[in-house]
Amino acid sequence: MKLSTKFMTRNDCYKAGRKITPKGIMIHSTATPGVMAATWFSRWNKSYQAGEINRQVCVHAFVDDKEAWQYLPWDHRGWHAGGTANNTHIGIEICEPGGFSYSGGSNMVGYNVAKNEAYFRKAWQNAVELCVLLCKKYGLTERDIICHSEGSRRGIASNHADVMHWFPKHGESTDTFRAAVRAALSKTKVSPDVSASLQVGDVVEVKASANTYYPGGAAIPAWVKTDSYHKVTQVISSGKPVVKGGKTCVLLGKSLDKKSGKESPGIMSWIDVGSLVVIVSKAKEAKTSKENNSYYRVQVGAFSNKENAEALLKRVKAAGFEGYIKFD
Ligand SMILES: [Zn+2]
Repeated sequence: MKLSTKFMTRNDCYKAGRKITPKGIMIHSTATPGVMAATWFSRWNKSYQAGEINRQVCVHAFVDDKEAWQYLPWDHRGWHAGGTANNTHIGIEICEPGGFSYSGGSNMVGYNVAKNEAYFRKAWQNAVELCVLLCKKYGLTERDIICHSEGSRRGIASNHADVMHWFPKHGESTDTFRAAVRAALSKTKVSPDVSASLQVGDVVEVKASANTYYPGGAAIPAWVKTDSYHKVTQVISSGKPVVKGGKTCVLLGKSLDKKSGKESPGIMSWIDVGSLVVIVSKAKEAKTSKENNSYYRVQVGAFSNKENAEALLKRVKAAGFEGYIKFD
């Protein structure tokens, strides 16, 4: 799925600037036949206050059969639910295909299921993939996904029928959508987890091939790669690995000059662990030093007589050594 980002900065919802901690995803469909994801930008990047649009509405993303467009930061409070779900849920609108009209609110008139099946499958797949991405980003599961009509039944959204006025025409439902997200989540294994082996205090080098700190993140200046090693200063946040741009990241604090080894305050940037080469591993050091601490036993005598053995043990202890008698 191709995901592009362009924030609706003129929309009053964007300007309100309220942040949320995403606890779930609400799936909508547009009820606007034939208007695709990219087109919604010019439709909604307008100010209600300035009288440019007659609705106070904004959603995090639109998805169609070809792509997804993100129009609000994921942790920005959207205006999509018409209820308290705005405080907790990321809103995703699935664009509906053209060639039909609406009557009586949510009644699709002249909707050709066979003709629209291919469109539906692709848009569905893109919506599933976007949900998988967001679930991973915010530690959510398919159980945290609801559609607008379910939100309405729970009393956290306005009385709209989407997406259950549409999905059943293609033999699907919000339940089967959740099942598809669940299946996709179990298939997408987290990349071999380098973070599990990275610890605070490890010294790493940033790979020359790394261009940005993580997908969608800032560009990495050349000196960060060429002149310095970096110390890992944080690997988890709120008990979880930190994921940015879909990648597990660690925080790099102090920098170490590659030539002099001199420590400086460092870059304090989160970076995709896939962009790192481990130079000094705390875990390996600990293992090695443990091995070095292992005891060597020296036998100082072999006796057939117990008293003689005990006499020698006394002398060994008097000399300041730990000792014991072993019976063969
Ligand atoms: Zn809706």
